Amino acid sequence: MATFLGCIADDFTGATDLAGLLARSGFPVSLRIGLPTAPPSDGQAIEVIALKCRSIPVSDAIRDVMAAYDWLRDAGAQRYFWKYCSTFDSTEHGNIGPVSEALMTAIGTDHTIYCPAFPENGRSIYMGNLFVGDQLLSESPMKDHPLNPMRDSNLMRLLDPQTTRKTGLVNRLSVAQGKQAITKSIEKLRLSGVAHIVTDAVANDDLYAIADACQDMPLLTGGSAIAMPLPDLYAARGLIDPKEKLENRPQIAPHAIVLSGSCSAMTRAQVAAYSANHPSYRISPIELSQNGIAAAKTWLMQCDLTKAPLIYATAEPQDVAQAQELLGRDAAGHIVEQAMAQLAILARDAGARRFVVAGGETSGAVATALGVTQVDIGREIAPGVPWTYCTSDGKALALTLKSGNFGRETFFSDALDMLGA
Ligand code: ADP
Repeated sequence: MATFLGCIADDFTGATDLAGLLARSGFPVSLRIGLPTAPPSDGQAIEVIALKCRSIPVSDAIRDVMAAYDWLRDAGAQRYFWKYCSTFDSTEHGNIGPVSEALMTAIGTDHTIYCPAFPENGRSIYMGNLFVGDQLLSESPMKDHPLNPMRDSNLMRLLDPQTTRKTGLVNRLSVAQGKQAITKSIEKLRLSGVAHIVTDAVANDDLYAIADACQDMPLLTGGSAIAMPLPDLYAARGLIDPKEKLENRPQIAPHAIVLSGSCSAMTRAQVAAYSANHPSYRISPIELSQNGIAAAKTWLMQCDLTKAPLIYATAEPQDVAQAQELLGRDAAGHIVEQAMAQLAILARDAGARRFVVAGGETSGAVATALGVTQVDIGREIAPGVPWTYCTSDGKALALTLKSGNFGRETFFSDALDMLGA
């Protein structure tokens, strides 16, 4: 069967998060890491393409997304989903709004919705304002993100400078009335020339009502949770094949490595919890810029990989600020990402077969270095973070890519425990 739902995600962990939630439906989900090089001869009903375009120049992001769109269209996609972070990571230049506008033009539609809400993970939208737990986005730890510090919580205000067309809101009062009220609200906004429609959602029921109302829109945009109901909605109308059981997953040797390049508050807690009783080694961009990865390599080579050692660049905001001041923001991030990429290859060649990676950008760098181009989605470790199965240099690996704030404090050991001895 040809592809029906084609999804494009702006980073790797966002893509695994989305693929994991889509796979909860029981339908097999294929995740491609980076733009597929081969034409879409083996496209599955639900395809997710993971790009790395959250923090690159707008024109590059549009180019990459359009190439992914072309692949999905050629695979037969009838519906498209543009996935970004549930904390709406962007700057005043984009890339969320400009990419949406480019997709709308290519698909030939004049409006779309924006719904980054993910209530299970504490992301909700009320009156257009995004909350992280009980804090406004702009008062949450996201205000100090190394690449996209979020200093406003109002999604319309965030979208306005990024886009050329009008923004509007379907507020919670409409959403709470259900599908018909949502459809009516959207139609009213559309007729008044609104192209970019933010939809409030504070609970899973809101997401179901929105997904139900919007399932026939050719383009939807948002976090992963709004896409979760789509496979069942499509299947109920015979638009995708009836359920197939997810296959059993292969046994993967227990040699493991944990790589953390995220500085998000939850990852800092996860690193603290895990390093208390596992071998761990800290790398820093300042030290790496002077001496490269030699010391980290020496440490890694003497590690017992059955003890699942941790290498982390994870640091407190003041340390991140110091490194950025000295090296420049992008260079500091790049040095860490390159180090993680090289260390991942060394770990694989030393026998590591289970990889836990924390950080969206970090995961992108690691997956690229390992040459992983396609994964099958396995069991979820935490909401939005599944194990995935793939091959790297001919070796079968289990790989989990965790976005910064996801998982609970014990995530790293939760993940490894789930695979057993
Ligand atoms: P998250 O998912 O939490 O956003 P990312 O990996 O996407 O994590 O982003 C974190 C960015 O911060 C990466 O570019 C990473 O290389 C960079 N980084 C990690 N550690 C440090 C550090 N100690 N100083 C400066 N930048 C860092």
